[in-house]
Amino acid sequence: MNEKTYNPFDTAQKQFDHAADLLELNQAERDLLRNPVREYHFSIPIRMDDGSVKIFRGFRVQHNDARGPAKGGIRFHPMETIDTVRALSMWMTWKTSVADIPLGGGKGGVICDPHHLSKSEQEHICRGWVRQIVKNVGPNIDIPAPDVMTNPQHMLWMLDEYELICGEKLPGFITGKPVGMGGSRGRTEATGYGVMITVREALKEQKIKPENTVASIQGFGNVAKYAIELYHKMGGRVICVSSWDEEDKTSYSFRKKDGIDLDELTKITDSFGGIDKSKARDLGYEVLPGDAWIEQDVDILVPAALENQIRADNTEKISKRVKILAEGANGPTTREADEIIQKGNIHVIPDFLANAGGVVCSYFEQVQCNMNYFWEKDEVLGKLDMKMTSAYLAVSDFARTNKMGMRDAAYVISVNRVVQACRDRGWV
Ligand code: NAD
Repeated sequence: MNEKTYNPFDTAQKQFDHAADLLELNQAERDLLRNPVREYHFSIPIRMDDGSVKIFRGFRVQHNDARGPAKGGIRFHPMETIDTVRALSMWMTWKTSVADIPLGGGKGGVICDPHHLSKSEQEHICRGWVRQIVKNVGPNIDIPAPDVMTNPQHMLWMLDEYELICGEKLPGFITGKPVGMGGSRGRTEATGYGVMITVREALKEQKIKPENTVASIQGFGNVAKYAIELYHKMGGRVICVSSWDEEDKTSYSFRKKDGIDLDELTKITDSFGGIDKSKARDLGYEVLPGDAWIEQDVDILVPAALENQIRADNTEKISKRVKILAEGANGPTTREADEIIQKGNIHVIPDFLANAGGVVCSYFEQVQCNMNYFWEKDEVLGKLDMKMTSAYLAVSDFARTNKMGMRDAAYVISVNRVVQACRDRGWV
């Protein structure tokens, strides 16, 4: 998405091919799973605030729904491509499977830049997206959610349009809604907390106390901020974060060796997760180039921004001290970089395991909506902890027993569950 030459779908397919080899899948099983079962491309005409009409391109891709309705976010991004959506939908299938929740994988997107759209234009895009896809989504078909640059307000506009068209209340249609309007307590925290629950378990295995570790994080959005919050509660110290600067069209890293202050940085961050660099300087942060986050002398690295961030050309910058790489973002590491990293001693917690907390909590949100009974935050976070811990331990036990890397182990477990569901249904 951020480099013309990089195609995330290519990465996702190569990762799948490797898992298919390990599982010795037959040709039909490979053909079914290396492509989405369904995809929709459509135009969304929007009357802009100045009276002109602009056409936005929208997508919804359902990679696989053998284990349950498709599930996955909707991304608003100016560089969105159908291949990005395909890759993300495939990763969702593996994510719901590795977390062992009864859902499949889907993803959606609109090519647009909310930085340059008014609130009302964004609302029209949300409603227009639903109007184009209404027949092919729903609580028992495909359940959308927020992703990069979409938020609970967008989800509520989409729900409202869906319910208006269907003529009934169907809060289970979409997740990531505001609390009090069908949203689940704990959903905002879920992905970032989930990342750190897996880190906590990895540290336990390595007999390292979190309070003796430091971390560097790429991004300062939803995932990054809540990962930092839980990591701080665990006693760890984050010394570097990074974010995209819309004005300069580049990213910057923000370092404070004594440890960043989450609250003070949050106060100088815009709603897209962009940190104000001059205010950060005033607060004593060093403002460094965008990729400086990767070369910090830390124990834990958490990419939590976008795909294609850890590549063959920058892996050598990773400090020898790094013990854990927890992929908060989807697809942050290219296959070439992964091969280099696997030769070292870094324990990789792969994306679709590390960041599964969001979809686990989305599943809880749907269950609560369908029951019309909402749980307390502690109950949600307790259930999240149980799911994430058992998913992590299943993968790490499998990796140890079968002497394979964490990514391979996660793939083998999740692809195997999906292929088994396809076989049981008689599809292959
Ligand atoms: P977000 O929009 O809230 O935050 C993204 C952050 O990344 C922002 O701080 C932005 O400034 C920063 N960023 C963007 N481009 C950058 C670049 N080139 N260099 C450095 N920083 C950059 O998004 P989010 O919800 O936190 O999602 C982050 C990643 O996690 C994405 O890959 C997303 O698909 C994945 N993810 C999100 C969730 C969720 O529940 N939000 C769940 C699973 C996976």
